[in-house]
Amino acid sequence: MAAFAAVERRPSPPVSARSSRPACDDAASAIFSNAIMGESTKPPASAGPDEARLPAEAVEEMRAHALECFPDECCGVLIGSADGAVEVRRIRNIQDQMHARDPERYPRTARTAYVGDPDDLRDALESADKPGRKLMAFYHSHPDHDAYFSEEDVAQATPFGEPSYPDALQIVISVYGTSVKEIKGFAWSGEDEAFREVRL
Ligand SMILES: [Zn+2]
Repeated sequence: MAAFAAVERRPSPPVSARSSRPACDDAASAIFSNAIMGESTKPPASAGPDEARLPAEAVEEMRAHALECFPDECCGVLIGSADGAVEVRRIRNIQDQMHARDPERYPRTARTAYVGDPDDLRDALESADKPGRKLMAFYHSHPDHDAYFSEEDVAQATPFGEPSYPDALQIVISVYGTSVKEIKGFAWSGEDEAFREVRL
């Protein structure tokens, strides 16, 4: 996919794992992860890309989604087409419903966690599976927190120690009130067995 053309690797600092931000809910994360496990493939040990070019329209669409959902987290996927177009597919965050139903198992609300609606997710992944299309990225927002790939985010993306979708970029949108502070992308490096930040 041209929009995700890999460029020469450069040294970069490791992705920071911890911050003061509340953890995304572990149990809740499992649902999102479980829903995407079906397409898991074994990745070759490559360094991973250093850069991912996203169309400005796709970035703007994610930005709008994050702002609309504030102060809750949003989530979604990016699906690329052979012609270079990138579709931003919103996934409903059902964290609050899960929390209301079972607050012990889902202690967090949508302000600090997300569970992707399984139906939305299934539809999106099926759409990405069609000929000429490709799952490019997962995204979610961090309301009132910076854009880093948290330990919980890593755990969610790697439920069995390796990423369910090693080729998919992980995008985190930091949103404070009425403005998006930053958007960062993280790609799996088979060589490092870790997510590394990539230039967007
Ligand atoms: Zn996160």
